Amino acid sequence: MNTKINILLIEDDKSISGFITTSLERNGYRVTSALNGKEGLSLAASLCPDVILLDLGLPDIDGCEILKQIRSWNSNIPIIILSARTKEQDKVSALDLGADDYLTKPFGTAELMARIRTSMRHRHPASPDRVYRALDLEINFEKRLIRLEGKEVHLTQIEYQLLTLLAENSGRVLTYSYLMNAIWGPYMDSNNQILRVNMANIRRKIEKNPAQPQYVFTEIGIGYRMLENENT
Ligand code: CA
Repeated sequence: MNTKINILLIEDDKSISGFITTSLERNGYRVTSALNGKEGLSLAASLCPDVILLDLGLPDIDGCEILKQIRSWNSNIPIIILSARTKEQDKVSALDLGADDYLTKPFGTAELMARIRTSMRHRHPASPDRVYRALDLEINFEKRLIRLEGKEVHLTQIEYQLLTLLAENSGRVLTYSYLMNAIWGPYMDSNNQILRVNMANIRRKIEKNPAQPQYVFTEIGIGYRMLENENT
């Protein structure tokens, strides 16, 4: 699978955006940039980034409003605020609204990298047992690596997010609407077709017989439940 970390950068200043994109790409990240709030919101929902870098001063929608909207449907994506504003109150407001961290421009590449790593560690605490294991399936959350009978399984970004969300909640039923919201946000229509398609693809990749799954079970009319982690 693709192990690159996906970063969504919402920043209207083209030179700053270009600088950050170059620095991040040089450090092995994949970057998608949005030059205004509207585009940023729609990309936040459709791309499922691992981290969002958000400028507070955007031309169309206030950054705090964007933060509020993203947090209304996703409490997990680390969001780091980038802003020229130095007022204490702006930082507090942004953090109160669910931002993970705050960088005041201008900032250096090393500082940006450190903040990204910290925000991801905070959301996915490092521990030697950050592994899902059941039957022949193993998911290493830290390394973003999935193995079936010891062989690496290649998933798309969405499939990976969906499977790890289920694995992190293994043994619990996650409803269709919960999964739809967690992965795609409310901007996707409520029809579960996209979820079923992705699940069918995951099953083709990890189940011996997708019609009789061993790992991800369908709870008809409710959602999906993943086989309990033997590692916990
Ligand atoms: Ca700006």
